[in-house]
Amino acid sequence: MTQPTLEQIASCIAGYDPNAMPVAQAQEFIARLVPRVQAVERLPIRSALGRVLAHDVVSPIDVPSHDNAAMDGYAMRGMDLADDGPTLLPVAGTSFAGQPVVSVVPPAFCARIMTGAVMPDGLDTVVPQEFTTLLPDGRISIPAGIVRTGDNRRLRGEDLARGEAALKAGRVLRPADLGLLASLGQAEVPVLRRLRVAFFSTGDELRSVGEPLDEGCVYDSNRYTLWGMLTRLGVELIDLGVVRDEPDALRAAFEQAAAAADAVITSGGVSVGEADHTKRIMAELGEVLFWRIAMRPGRPLAIGRIGDGAGGRGAILFGLPGNPVAVMVTFYAFVRDALLAMAGANAEPLPVMQAISAGALRKKPGRTEYQRGTLRPTADGRWQVEITGSQGSGILRSMSQANGLVVLHHGQGNVAAGDLVDVLPFDGLV
Ligand code: AMP
Ligand code: MG
Repeated sequence: MTQPTLEQIASCIAGYDPNAMPVAQAQEFIARLVPRVQAVERLPIRSALGRVLAHDVVSPIDVPSHDNAAMDGYAMRGMDLADDGPTLLPVAGTSFAGQPVVSVVPPAFCARIMTGAVMPDGLDTVVPQEFTTLLPDGRISIPAGIVRTGDNRRLRGEDLARGEAALKAGRVLRPADLGLLASLGQAEVPVLRRLRVAFFSTGDELRSVGEPLDEGCVYDSNRYTLWGMLTRLGVELIDLGVVRDEPDALRAAFEQAAAAADAVITSGGVSVGEADHTKRIMAELGEVLFWRIAMRPGRPLAIGRIGDGAGGRGAILFGLPGNPVAVMVTFYAFVRDALLAMAGANAEPLPVMQAISAGALRKKPGRTEYQRGTLRPTADGRWQVEITGSQGSGILRSMSQANGLVVLHHGQGNVAAGDLVDVLPFDGLV
């Protein structure tokens, strides 16, 4: 498959302007740029958690395979229920879960039945045990109005019918899906191969954890936040460390990354005033655009393809800004969805919450702002969000203290205390 050039993609984007690009336009561009992995592997169910399903999984059986009881009690025919007053029925046997079914229950008889046990032929209703009384003559008494025909019976195939697509290709497998696959009796699952992502930090001022912190230097934190976000995303990681601002070192790092990975993520060295070599080497090794995005934090972004790795198609490059908060915000705004698409995932949109802003927020229309906030329930059962102190793009603490990102949209202006704002919560169910 031939890839469109970046120029061709740009020509499909209405009002494309690399120097003032709205977030939504950048997202659209990136969505058109990224290819999807193709290779498939088969894994045991438990190894497939978080992986992307490669093909539809069609149920080979009805689940459940028989009509069965949803409660412990007595199975009977709905037509035997008395119109008025209690119903009295003799008991013809007992049906236990996993045991051969009680074959014949004559008309106007019932059978004792346990949850999950197969419904004897012709019986369609289960009366829960607690509503019944066992009479001295061995019959049970069912008070009037307790059940209707069909109550407390699970139908064959009601969970999954044979031949039905139980899970669709592109599904990122969650705990319930593993259970569903097991319920079909499938030991193995076809998943797409994991996406390989290489990343490194650029900047002469960066020192790695464990090294002494020289005068005027900072510890490289971006590789750790990136490691965390990428690990959560379930990709395969190639950590290439800190790369000095030297053309040969940068060239070698980009080449190694592009040869080994589907995507390359760097931080630093892409802002306009950069004196270093990062941008030049990126442009030299591939087809790369340098954008200024109408967002805060995270204005500069390099995007494109470098090298001829990944089967001669080149690796997708995300050159993120250097500031630690900008790295995380641009990752969430652009890289996350792009990597999921590359991994073949049919990702659902992230849930956005509306919360009451605890304070007034200054916001200029014409750019998207991502502020860091703490979501808390209010006494009356709603959600409030409060900004986590100074929002400088170098202040990683603002991110660490937050439990969500307040998204102030492109066209939005100032927010008054008490207004509703959109918040992307960081955490969900496991
Ligand atoms: P740059 O985008 O290279 O101009 O970097 C912007 C700011 O982010 C500078 O203050 C850098 O020192 C800082 N920075 C860049 N990379 C990192 C990193 N990996 N860890 C921590 N801070 C960084
Ligand atoms: Mg720099």
